[in-house]
Amino acid sequence: MKRDYYEVLGIGKNATEEEIKKSYRKLAVKYHPDKNSGNKEAEEKFKEINEAYEVLSDKEKRLRYDQFGHAGVGSSAASDGFGGHYGGTGVNMDDIFSHFEDIFGGNFGFGGGGKSKKTVRGGDVRISVKLSLEEIATGVSKKIKIKKQIVCSACNGTGAKNSRVVTCHACNGTGVMVKVQRTILGSMQTQTTCTSCRGMGSIPAEKCNVCYGSGTVMGEEIVSFNIPAGVESGMELSLRGKGHAAPHGGIPGDLIIIVEEESHPHFKREGSHLIYHLFLSFPDAALGTQIEIPTLEGKARVKIEPGTQSGKLLRLKAKGLPSLNGYGRGDIIIDVNVYTPANLSAEERKILEQLKHSKNLQPSQNKKEKSFFERMKEYFH
Ligand SMILES: [Zn+2]
Ligand SMILES: [Zn+2]
Repeated sequence: MKRDYYEVLGIGKNATEEEIKKSYRKLAVKYHPDKNSGNKEAEEKFKEINEAYEVLSDKEKRLRYDQFGHAGVGSSAASDGFGGHYGGTGVNMDDIFSHFEDIFGGNFGFGGGGKSKKTVRGGDVRISVKLSLEEIATGVSKKIKIKKQIVCSACNGTGAKNSRVVTCHACNGTGVMVKVQRTILGSMQTQTTCTSCRGMGSIPAEKCNVCYGSGTVMGEEIVSFNIPAGVESGMELSLRGKGHAAPHGGIPGDLIIIVEEESHPHFKREGSHLIYHLFLSFPDAALGTQIEIPTLEGKARVKIEPGTQSGKLLRLKAKGLPSLNGYGRGDIIIDVNVYTPANLSAEERKILEQLKHSKNLQPSQNKKEKSFFERMKEYFH
């Protein structure tokens, strides 16, 4: 089980950005590998802290995490579908050190030298997935073929013909250019990524003739993932590291899956509830009956009491959609409409004519008509 990110950073759910930073800074210094060399536990802690910080320091990711937990931000231990190189020991140190730049500013030197080789990140791939209400009710695994930039197999992503690379002479293989500036505070060193090798430290001896040196080519990959029950149209799920491969062996981007809900032949969705419009014949409404209603799993029998009015709302408890947080299930709400016949045979007309003035068929005049939406409002109240 993965620990709660707020717990990891020792902060409350309502922590401000400043509090998150402060707590992260304190813990990162304490568990930094340079201070705990060889200590496996400290290393795991350090990764955990960084993972938590990566999510909680990003407004959008934090919101998704608050809504969906680990599943919403693609951390691998939470669900089998989502995740990628961030779970457990797969944390990328370059990403971690980019946090230090954010927080401590510029070249915060842990153990001297800081980081050297910078990795390039691949672009995100966005796809939309159409889901039926039935699929949303249970959650679903999908397997989808995606067109995207993949690692060039001819050069293993190096961009170099026969994977032969030589040390970049501009930076002597360090991937960075060091500039020394004199300031009133003394001489200051600044590091920038080497432009000739883009921080890789090496350059192709000869360019790969399949990818022309980029290390990636357009290709296809079959990606499997799970979509949790209860999702709604417009929601986005991200699969870490399943986006475009990055040029020159960098970190792949993410696959962003956008949920699209298909319209259903019987139901209209209202949050976790499903609305079903039922049409009853006048005799059924007046005499009462048993009626079969479709559900997402099959059918259910519903008793119609004698004297049922148009506009009555009946409910099939817990036959709607599960909520995303896993607590409870919505209802199927049956909106009853009494059907008025549009075409009558001579015989039917005669019977109705006979009943026309019957006292019990006269509508009660003090009945206030409420709109469907007013009734729904009362229902949810
Ligand atoms: Zn270089
Ligand atoms: Zn290539």
